[in-house]
Amino acid sequence: MLLTITYTGQNTQNLGFLLYKNPARPQTVTLSYGKAYIFYPEISDTRTTAALLLSLDPIDLARGKAGSTGGGLFDYVNDRPYVSSSFMSTAISKAFGTAMSGRADEHQALSDSTLDLTAVISMLPCVGEKEKLSAVFAPLGYEVQYDAALSDEKFPAWGESRYVNLTLHGKVRLRDLLRHIFVLIPVFDRQKHYWVGEDEVKKLLSHGEGWLENHPEKAYITGRYLGRRKSLVSMAFAQLAGHEDAEEPAKESSETRVTLNMQRLNRVLAALKSSGASSVVDLGCGEGRLLSLLIKERQFSRIAGMDVSHVALKRASDRLRLESAGESYRERIALFQGSLTYKDSRISGFEAASVVEVVEHLDPARLSAFERVLFAFAKPKTIVLTTPNKEYNANYAFLHPKDLRHGDHRFEWTRAEFRNWANRIAADYGYRVEISEIGEADEIHGAPTQMGVFQLCD
Ligand code: SAH
Repeated sequence: MLLTITYTGQNTQNLGFLLYKNPARPQTVTLSYGKAYIFYPEISDTRTTAALLLSLDPIDLARGKAGSTGGGLFDYVNDRPYVSSSFMSTAISKAFGTAMSGRADEHQALSDSTLDLTAVISMLPCVGEKEKLSAVFAPLGYEVQYDAALSDEKFPAWGESRYVNLTLHGKVRLRDLLRHIFVLIPVFDRQKHYWVGEDEVKKLLSHGEGWLENHPEKAYITGRYLGRRKSLVSMAFAQLAGHEDAEEPAKESSETRVTLNMQRLNRVLAALKSSGASSVVDLGCGEGRLLSLLIKERQFSRIAGMDVSHVALKRASDRLRLESAGESYRERIALFQGSLTYKDSRISGFEAASVVEVVEHLDPARLSAFERVLFAFAKPKTIVLTTPNKEYNANYAFLHPKDLRHGDHRFEWTRAEFRNWANRIAADYGYRVEISEIGEADEIHGAPTQMGVFQLCD
């Protein structure tokens, strides 16, 4: 992937001083996952272009170095080496760090001036609406142009590809141009090659200083830059607003999120209790939050948690203090690893089962397997199932309308879709179902979570 920066005006070779890169000498910067090359495809008194060419090693990426997702084939077959992504941002800060800071020694006056600059960012994955490119860059003083190729020239009906070549032209300071690009490439690409933690808030605030605070798309930029980590988004917002009237970026801030989780678990617990069941298996139990509530209820004499993830089960075991527990406690509760899409006799023989915020993690093609495993094979008398209501996502300012609430969700259902699915399942497998909502509902979109309580017909 390639980034070029063109300076038009007089004595434009000075671009080399501002970037601390000699136009006469191509340079290489070594990165942990490849190399960045800096060179000048054109140099003249009136027009000089600097280029940053990034060459990533796809095998390094796949073998667990930076960028690896641990995601099987995806690690090998992906667009990462060929697009402008957070790798490009990292390369910009390594190659042009001094220019980004605005320090230019004897050329300080030039560095502090606005210059006629044009940046071309090639192959920028634009996840979401392309109109956002103008909404985000134009308020920063750029004329915005982009061209998007067809996905496949032989099949025009497939439409435009999501990759664009983006041209930004404006009268800006070089340091601002670099800082804008640094922050905004990952906003459009969305897939960061590193874990998004609190450091990212600092990075966003320092590179966003002076332009992000009052940007009309502040919520969008912040939400996408921080990869939808809601607690981080709230933190960034509080700091952008100067701590005073911290604007709420979304309804589901970290605090309300806790309450939504708690509300959900309490409602599931109530449904399980009122079913009269004495044994319950929590499918996709995660870190065991529901299990830790179930164990406190004497009504449940036999409890089990199943999850596909070892890590989640280890956390559940720690939360329940299973290792240090006495014999009788351990006889009451068991954890085991398994998948909901395979018949498993260990989940049979329970009077009730819960499936809390799990179905949406299943591949839609495996949904029918899950249905048979639970409703036909295990067949408990009561099944309590919750899943997000996709319509409610409209309330999350930083989610694009087409986005799902969590990166690992394979799908999310609208209220009608969930109702249809639940009614069909009930009819097919001999259950009655009652559907309700959990969390604060809004008039148009309903509540954030939806729940179905299935009762086996006599
Ligand atoms: N029920 C928990 C966790 C929800 S997160 C809670 O409400 O807190 C979804 C969980 O489903 C994760 O722990 C994930 O590991 C698990 N999961 C995803 N696919 C699964 C499958 N096929 N079988 C069992 N568990 C699965």
